Amino acid sequence: MTDDPYLALHAVTETRPPDRMHRYDPHLAGLVLEYVRTRLSFTDTPLDHPSGPEPIEEALDGFIDQYGRDPREVLDAYVHHIAANVLSTDSPRFFGFIPAAPTKASLLFDTVVSIASLQGCSWLEASGAIVAENQVLRWIADLAGMPAGTGGTFVSGGSAANLSALAVAREIGRRRFGVREVRIACSDEAHSSVANACRILDVEPFVIPTDDHRLTGARLREALDGYDGPPVVAVVATAGTTNAGIVDDLDGISAVCRERNLWLHVDGAYGGAALLSDQAWRFKGLEHADSFITDPHKWWFAPFDCAAVLYRDPDQAASVHTQHASYLDPLHQSDHPVYWNPTDLAHHLSRRARGLPLWFSLAVHGTDAYRAAVQHVLDLTQEVAALIEETPHVELIREPGLSVVLWRRTGWGRDEYLALQDRLLAEQVAFATPTVWEGEVVGRFALLHPSTTLDMVRTVLDALR
Ligand SMILES: *Cc1c(COP(=O)(O)O)cnc(C)c1O
Repeated sequence: MTDDPYLALHAVTETRPPDRMHRYDPHLAGLVLEYVRTRLSFTDTPLDHPSGPEPIEEALDGFIDQYGRDPREVLDAYVHHIAANVLSTDSPRFFGFIPAAPTKASLLFDTVVSIASLQGCSWLEASGAIVAENQVLRWIADLAGMPAGTGGTFVSGGSAANLSALAVAREIGRRRFGVREVRIACSDEAHSSVANACRILDVEPFVIPTDDHRLTGARLREALDGYDGPPVVAVVATAGTTNAGIVDDLDGISAVCRERNLWLHVDGAYGGAALLSDQAWRFKGLEHADSFITDPHKWWFAPFDCAAVLYRDPDQAASVHTQHASYLDPLHQSDHPVYWNPTDLAHHLSRRARGLPLWFSLAVHGTDAYRAAVQHVLDLTQEVAALIEETPHVELIREPGLSVVLWRRTGWGRDEYLALQDRLLAEQVAFATPTVWEGEVVGRFALLHPSTTLDMVRTVLDALR
């Protein structure tokens, strides 16, 4: 025996096999799977409440040391100090930002994908996963009206998807004009990740003014006619703005793009799922997109983190994103032209088969269940708008765009909205963050969860009296 921790550890490791972490441990597995079952059974999932970092740091202090500890202790710390301090975006009472609402089937299957650490990089390695993911991508492409030959992959989120697609748009534009400096047109309502992608790509955005927050073909044509500068090679349209759910004039914009041979990129990260609803007519023109992105981790009811990026011509995307290295050569031996490697269609190499949770849930429930769930949320949104109009001191700012409702409590400013946000969260009643609309701080509900009820929203409105 020794009191020296280093020597003690040495003595222990000598008697333990080096692969002990890789052996099946029924105690550890039982604990974690039991927790999985419990969390999965939640329906009115608690919002939880992030506190400041200090108590969490204190609770987790020393957890990572050279010896390790009982998994029960570690799992308890996760439940009480980690999970409890993470807002549940999948709670039906989460109305802030853009909520999440993964189906139980998709959550379970995410666990299955994790259990296998299932990758989906290339045909050489992962044809099973890729065929299934491609079924989902084809379903989305069909809804969008994109042609046979459309292909893509799943990346971590809308930001990564926008960046990957705009990298292709920029490169194809550069090749066409034979110049390095090109520009990408977008509206002043485009998502912040589009501006970020442009910055990363070193492309200056050409910002087009909107009509009532909506980019139109007429505005685009007018702006391009008055423009004189480095070639504009692409246009970003938004199918469901994050702030207000507004779908740009895709029909008019796509006509201008075809007329002038511009790459049309459509960002449907939030709104794309409305293709499943009676609002699908708003997406006319999307069928002409060169690239289209949408986030299954938003309104397609899949868990984080999952965004689909689709290209009309995946060969172009592969010509921009394929990584070349001698050790990767075997990935590119396939002589079948339509077998694009997912790895070659975005700025990633290793990737998990993150499209499979949606694939499983779609296969189990059928696409009609998805249509019904999305439509239900849109119908609920209309009921919420009507309720707001009946509520004293509260005004509806505009007809909801898809499932986003903007409202005003008369006489309120930023402080009141933020105080309300804190109070509702402290009471675990709702999470509702304000936004800014035409220079004014206003209330906002982003609805997305099919388990959200009118009563849950009414509780918030009652707190405004
Ligand atoms: C959410 C969103 C994004 C960014 O998606 P992430 O998955 O958060 O990276 C991009 N565009 C729009 C319109 C969005 O709503």
